[in-house]
Parts: sequence; structure tokens; C-alpha cells
Amino acid sequence: MSSVDIRSVSKLYGDVVALEDVTLRFGEGEFFGLLGPSGSGKTTLLRSIAGFVEPNSGQILIEGSDISRIPTHKRDIGMVFQNYALFPHMSVYDNIAFPLSVRRMASAEIKSRVTQILDLVQLAGYGGRRPRELSGGQQQRIALARALVSRPRVLLLDEPLGALDKNLRSQMQIELRQIQREVGITTILVTHDQEEAMTLSDRIAVFQKGKVVQVGRPDELYERPKSAFAAEFFGATNFLSGAVESAGDLAVIRLRDGTKLMTTDRLGPRVNEVALTIRPEKILISGSNAGKDEVDDQPMNAIGGNVVRSVYMGASVTYKVATAAGELTVFQQNRETRLLQAGEAVRLTWLPHHTIVLAAPIA
Ligand code: ADP
Ligand code: MG
Repeated sequence: MSSVDIRSVSKLYGDVVALEDVTLRFGEGEFFGLLGPSGSGKTTLLRSIAGFVEPNSGQILIEGSDISRIPTHKRDIGMVFQNYALFPHMSVYDNIAFPLSVRRMASAEIKSRVTQILDLVQLAGYGGRRPRELSGGQQQRIALARALVSRPRVLLLDEPLGALDKNLRSQMQIELRQIQREVGITTILVTHDQEEAMTLSDRIAVFQKGKVVQVGRPDELYERPKSAFAAEFFGATNFLSGAVESAGDLAVIRLRDGTKLMTTDRLGPRVNEVALTIRPEKILISGSNAGKDEVDDQPMNAIGGNVVRSVYMGASVTYKVATAAGELTVFQQNRETRLLQAGEAVRLTWLPHHTIVLAAPIA
């Protein structure tokens, strides 16, 4: 178990800025996700930690010591890539034993370690097979076993489940997390899949164009995104903007059409215009004649509108609702409530603390 410190790391490829002044700390034993769209610099950071990429500036430390002068093979790091090819001509056993054999470890020790790690990835008894005789998920578990067998200080995973189909992928996510917990190794996972990052990570760093735009636990990033980019990346959301009418514990924002919304978010000093976001599942929808709101002893935001269309999705219904403030998306859990029809007048309500104030205006 080791901590990894990234200090002001930048990397340029010609005039492409792959990483710009990235500072991050991965704690001991932490499972940390690097999340962002393709080309945002995630792999470049991972390869910099591994030693395949040399940053133009900044420092990388493992357990407090600078690793810039340590060659890749001495950094004591395990890696798994999406297409991390196993050696096809070697048995599963020899594939896993490989990192130990090159270190000239005694064969009795190799045997005990390989047996132990095959157990860990639940493939005991598969040592004699060739990689092509295994399924995609099994092959990826062998790649993981090979990365872990030398007991590295840090495990780096670059889209390791990207080649697997959806069901196998979610099953492997659970297994991966379980194995990581058992070994207790500091793990850094690159993914562009928001759900995968949330399922697996203790904390996540969101990358945008080579920069880290937000770091937090999955729930913090989902419930309190700081930018429109982060809000959208973590799932469907609604955007509104308006002028600050009054600040305080319960601030009031006036939208262009005059609608006033309350929020419990703190507004910075001298802020006039703000961008807001509201998650679709936080909004309650009811027919306009439904009477009182469900939460009646708390102040609620409310806005009237008309259903534009509804999409029945089984577990939930998605409504598009036209309001004076613009079209809003609402997710309603399917509890056998009557399906609202297009054109029907409705009332939307939500709690003040579900009106999220974004730090930056919507671009
Ligand atoms: P991600 O893993 O988030 O998809 P990368 O770290 O692979 O992003 O890439 C970040 C940026 O750096 C991209 O614009 C990519 O085209 C560029 N880049 C990455 N590797 C190289 C390279 N070896 N040569 C030139 N440009 C590169
Ligand atoms: Mg990548």
C-alpha cells in the first residue's frame, strides 16, 4: 500500500496540451477513478506514473519519494490495459509466473505465489490452459493476476473492462473491487464510463481537456457538481440560469421569466448571475389539481407546466415538461401512479437544496 502524489504535472505533445498542471493525491489503499471524455489526458497521467511518458514539468512521488529517475521496471507498479495481451503461446500459469521468473525468483516461491493469486481471481485449476481457451472475463482476470503477482505498490488500470459486454462488465466490476479490497492495494482506474467510475471508486477526479476540474466521492460529484461539464458527465440533468435576488441561508434566484427559485447553496460575494442545475429525479410531478405537495412542512420550489411527452421506461417514466422557464426533464419512479398525458397541466416541485448552484456560468 502506497500513496501517490501528482504535483503540478504537465505534458505537451507538440502544441497539444495532454496534461495541464495536474495536482492529485491518491491515498494508501484508495481506489481512485480518473474519469473524462476521450482525449482528456487520463491515459497520459497513468502512463506518466508508470514511466512510459515523461512529463514536461511537475513531480510524481510514491510514498513521498520522487520517481522521475526510476525506470519503469523498477517502479514497482502493476498495470492492466483494455487489450493487455496475454502471451498466447504460454500457459496461464506461465503468463502469471512471468514477472516473477524474470526476477529469477525460486520456482517453489513462484509456484506458491501463482497458486495463491489464481485462488484470489477465482481461477484455481486453470493454470494449465492457454489464454485462448478462456473467456474474455477470465482472460482479464489472468491479466489482473499477472499485474498483482509481484505484489506491486500501486495498481494502474486503463479501461480494463472496456472490451467486455455489459453484463460481464458489471460482474467484473464487483469482482475487481472485491479483489482490490482483499489485497488493499492503491489502485488508479482510467475510465470514460461514469457508472463504472462511481461503482468502483472511493474518489474520482474529473478530467476535461488535460485539467482536473473536480475531485470528490461519487455522491459528492453527483449531488454537488461544480460545473455544467461535471453535472452532465454524471448523468441527466436540467440547466437554468437567473439573477440573484437575495443571498443568505435560503437564497432566491429569479429566472428570466420571473420564476423565483430557492437554494441552500452558498453564493459567492458579488455574484449576480448564476447557472443552476436540477437532477430530474429530484423533481416531483403532479397533476395541477393534485393539491398539496408531498413535503408540506418545508419550503419547496414550484413551477407549473404542461407535459410535452412521456417515455415509459419500466422502472421509471421520463417526462418532458414545458414551463415558463424552459423545458424540464423529470424522472418519476413507477409506483403505479397514473401516467400523465401529453398536454396535461402539471406542477413541478423540489426542495431548495436540490437547486444546485454551479460555480461557473453555463458556456
Ligand atoms: P484519454 O486517455 O483521456 O483518452 P490521452 O491521455 O490518451 O487521453 O490523450 C490526451 C491528449 O494527448 C489527446 O489529445 C491525444 O491525442 C494526445 N496524445 C496522447 N498520446 C500522444 C502521443 N503519443 N503523441 C501525440 N499526442 C498524444
Ligand atoms: Mg485513454
